[in-house]
Amino acid sequence: MSAADLPRDGAPEIALVGRSNVGKSSLINALAGDVVARTSATPGKTRLINVYRMSGGLDRPFYLVDLPGYGYARGARSAESFQALADVYVGARWNADADAGPATGALLLVDARHPGLDNDLAAYDWLARLARPSAVVATKMDKLTRAERPRATRTLDTAFNGTVLPVSAATGEGLKELWKLIDRLLSKHPPRLKPRPAS
Ligand code: GDP
Repeated sequence: MSAADLPRDGAPEIALVGRSNVGKSSLINALAGDVVARTSATPGKTRLINVYRMSGGLDRPFYLVDLPGYGYARGARSAESFQALADVYVGARWNADADAGPATGALLLVDARHPGLDNDLAAYDWLARLARPSAVVATKMDKLTRAERPRATRTLDTAFNGTVLPVSAATGEGLKELWKLIDRLLSKHPPRLKPRPAS
């Protein structure tokens, strides 16, 4: 991929970052209201950066940029390929001069059932350092029972240093709030990730 392959119409972009199998494709489909993203049966299949133009959800179009998932079983290799592509994207979009690209931000997707995994925390720290408009979304909330939820939410908030938005692509829970969050990410005063205290 090169910067030339990215959209050039000036619409803002939200990059989606997360482990393979976290539910990224399902969430894109849920937001698009249609099946636009291929959901992969084999985790770790998506290797390229797919870009989806979203129109209709907000009062202006934007792009969802689907960065490759990281960290599924084969460890180092997928981390490398994630980081390689993510760095190309960031280099092209976030470090470039002002007129090279529109305002961009990111959503970090984490599995609600597995708060605070090392590779998710590493992705959080990476995004926090980049200091772009960003937030954390916990996927697959429907897999938690009502009884499990309060503790899971607390653990997620502790692990990710603030408020994590719980969603489910399966039930549609949290999607309205996710649209509001995306709107805020694209606004003049977007949320950012607070750096975690060094441990
Ligand atoms: P990706 O690799 O991050 O794009 O993940 P996918 O969207 O392909 O989802 C991986 C698996 O998790 C698939 O079997 C999905 O059906 C399942 N999945 C995704 N989102 C949800 C959700 O909100 N709830 C439940 N129960 N399963 C989900």
